[in-house]
Amino acid sequence: MLLSDKICIITGAASPRGIGRATARLFAAQGARVVILDLDEGQARDAAADLGQGHLGLACNVTDRQACLNAAERTIGECGRIDVLVNNAGITQPLKFMDIKPENYDAVLDVNLRGTLYMSQAVVPQMRKQRSGSIVCMSSVSAQRGGGIFGGPHYSAAKGGVLGLGKAMARELGPDNVRVNSITPGLIQTDITGGKLTDDLKVEIAKGIPLGRLGVADDIGNACLFLASDLSAYITGATIDVNGGMLIH
Ligand code: NAD
Repeated sequence: MLLSDKICIITGAASPRGIGRATARLFAAQGARVVILDLDEGQARDAAADLGQGHLGLACNVTDRQACLNAAERTIGECGRIDVLVNNAGITQPLKFMDIKPENYDAVLDVNLRGTLYMSQAVVPQMRKQRSGSIVCMSSVSAQRGGGIFGGPHYSAAKGGVLGLGKAMARELGPDNVRVNSITPGLIQTDITGGKLTDDLKVEIAKGIPLGRLGVADDIGNACLFLASDLSAYITGATIDVNGGMLIH
């Protein structure tokens, strides 16, 4: 068991086919007690119940600082500590540069970047107290290549921001034995694409991927598992590409 008795918070983990949910399942299978945070309390609770007994599902909009603080406090109250945070909650919008309106910018930057800041700020005091913790931030290949397939430039900017924030956090929190790493997924088959990923498009996209297929949520969950566990004890400030070779640099 890689995460025996570890208390692991995963944001945006209620979506049934999502990366967060897959990560939650893998963590639970490795002995973790998982705290699922998502917008809707009922969905978060159902997702936690699906994992088995002892897991927790709470409502938390990561753009709301107080909601993040409350979720961390509830977790400490019920579980006693916080070992892992996966900043997974995210949204995207397929817009062209000139079509990005202020409200689009706010929505995408707020969930992806501000949410990562607020939720990390909510858990760091406890991790510092414990003198241990692992934070995993979900960026995207879109940050590295200037656009994925479904994300607009504001999404690339938000995910690029996540990479910078993660590295700066790693530098500052290293002396407290709190590690911070990021994952840059390629195209993963979840519901974030809003049904725009047709079978024809999948075949076309797979042609540009050396491993010859799109990713599945478990591909990212397994990378989260590595970064959350002690297998990565000497890794901090890193960016792990999980993209089938879509971007090799
Ligand atoms: P998804 O839509 O299946 O899941 C996202 C989850 O985040 C949902 O459960 C949603 O309710 C939740 N969420 C949205 N706004 C929130 C908020 N304000 N507070 C709390 N929760 C919120 O998408 P996914 O594909 O599983 O994406 C997970 C992460 O991976 C995202 O950060 C996404 O940007 C990133 N990512 C995905 C891909 C991909 O191809 N699917 C590629 C690169 C990066």
